[in-house]
Amino acid sequence: MTIKTVLVVEDNELNMKLVVALLNIAKYNILQAAEAGKGIQLAHEGTPDLILMDIQLPDMDGLTATRQLKSDPATQHIPVIALTGYAMAEDEQRAYDAGCDGYISKPINTKKFLSVLADFLSKSSPAPVQRSSRLKPHVLIVDDDPLNVKLLDKLLSSEYQITTAYDGEEALQKVDERLPDLILLDIMMPKVDGYEVTQRLKSNSSTKNIPIILITALDGAEDKAKGVDAGADEFLNKPVNQTELKARVKSLIKLKIYQEQLSTRDRSEEKLVSLIGVKDTSISKKDFPVVLLAEDNQKDINLFQLYLEKQPYRLKVVKSGEEVISICHNEKIDLILLDLILPNMDGFAICTRLKENEETRNIQIVMVSSQSDMESKLKGLELGADDFLMKPVNKDELIIRIKSLMKKKLYLDQLLNRIEKTRSAAITDKLTNLYNHSYLMHFMGYEIKRCNRQQQPMALIMIDIDDFKQYNDTYGHPAGDGLLRLFGKLIKSSIREVDLAARYGGEEFAVVLPYTNRDDAMKTAERIIGNIRNCSLSEGPAKRCERKTASLGIACYPSDADTVEMLVQRADEALYRAKRNGKNQVCFY
Ligand code: GH3
Ligand code: MG
Ligand code: MG
Ligand code: MG
Repeated sequence: MTIKTVLVVEDNELNMKLVVALLNIAKYNILQAAEAGKGIQLAHEGTPDLILMDIQLPDMDGLTATRQLKSDPATQHIPVIALTGYAMAEDEQRAYDAGCDGYISKPINTKKFLSVLADFLSKSSPAPVQRSSRLKPHVLIVDDDPLNVKLLDKLLSSEYQITTAYDGEEALQKVDERLPDLILLDIMMPKVDGYEVTQRLKSNSSTKNIPIILITALDGAEDKAKGVDAGADEFLNKPVNQTELKARVKSLIKLKIYQEQLSTRDRSEEKLVSLIGVKDTSISKKDFPVVLLAEDNQKDINLFQLYLEKQPYRLKVVKSGEEVISICHNEKIDLILLDLILPNMDGFAICTRLKENEETRNIQIVMVSSQSDMESKLKGLELGADDFLMKPVNKDELIIRIKSLMKKKLYLDQLLNRIEKTRSAAITDKLTNLYNHSYLMHFMGYEIKRCNRQQQPMALIMIDIDDFKQYNDTYGHPAGDGLLRLFGKLIKSSIREVDLAARYGGEEFAVVLPYTNRDDAMKTAERIIGNIRNCSLSEGPAKRCERKTASLGIACYPSDADTVEMLVQRADEALYRAKRNGKNQVCFY
């Protein structure tokens, strides 16, 4: 039987996680889109057998998207099931009117969900179309057993570009030819084994940041210890569990993106800071990260204390759910080892509370449970847990999990706090608090080099406020400054955290979008222009009841330009075209 592919178009992260987890149980290939436009694109490129379409989406509603899919000969044969909020009678009719083939209301009934899907899938007949692998992260699979390679390949190839190797030597050679974003590595192999491959890659500065997942035998406590020493980032037990494999691959790749983003920023900041002679007052390392152990069983507490004794963390212990919530709001906690069953509030409820709150959402949560059943793992993931561990806890697994989540936490913290750092004065525009012109240029220089190395695209959006001079002349210069600040905020709130917003100069802004192709750049630009259009200035610092608009120009690397200067020039040209065409619009180069 061939594996079926399901495309999920859903902007709500939690819902997406739940649906994906359920689809994983049934072993479907999964394509994910958080916006309708991306969904339509994937419907073409990924040839799904079925589409699950959320109705409320940021860019275009799901019914409009369905109409488009159903009027396009290339996609009209794919069944579309609408996912909507609490069911209303007209919703169902509207879904069918738009061409949906079915209708599932949220919250999703996890028991019925898969059988409804199976029903639809047995009816569908997909048309084969070439898949695009241009933007997929690159995973190297290494195992001397061709069957294992095949299995892993099958599990990952819908979301990742796969390269394979059948022994350690070949693996090193493949890495040399092209740096992968992640390596899945068997340990026992002829010639060079998995430990040695890990060791060699981790001791080489150009390959040390590639995440490595070692695949170990089920009870290989010793293997794991050796793996940690060699520098592996994660383990997976054989036989590999699909859900776990996908979760680990995904989170390590995400981590790598943050890491690269951060080191690009670090390097360009350092260079610039040394150029302008500002002293580097980097973050003090005296404070170890804090691990909170939420556990009511004294034996388990003792065990965790023993395991973490020599690790560079400060361990705090609480024994009830209420204490977890209160300590997280009052102290800096980086990671929680959360027992599933605690007095007066269970682990699921705690997880929900912490992930719902802006202040506590970045705290990494590891669910610890003695239930090895899928249901509780899934429920944890659905509620936003970052990882899970099974009791009895294996020491090496515990340490490596904490290490990689701490890394993630640190990157998140640093990315978010970046602008607050002391040295930021030199690279920040004082009026808007965005990055300034010189930092932008340095950042782009490094970013272009990295994109070139990794064969990744990036995009630059230039933004110019329409008729700003007139606004200045009418309301005065201070009001104009207020408007600039407001625009800065609007732009910042319209982009991802890996994107970089800067004030280019005067009333011109720039946004750099790493890992972004033309279509996605357009979506971001439309989100920016939309947020600007919709903002009533009476709410902003300018206190005037009117709206202001801006014009945007986009240029893409490498399709439009291959140097920073050219990219800026091209985005500028696109911007001028937007102005000439009547302003308040987005133009491509
Ligand atoms: P267009 O729609 O073609 O972009 O017209 P415009 O009026 O927005 O553009 P123009 O380049 O003619 O005018 C830009 C104005 O922005 C002129 C300048 O005084 C003003 N400006 C530049 N920097 C600042 C600033 O920091 N604060 C304030 N309040 N105004 C500024
Ligand atoms: Mg939605
Ligand atoms: Mg202007
Ligand atoms: Mg201007």
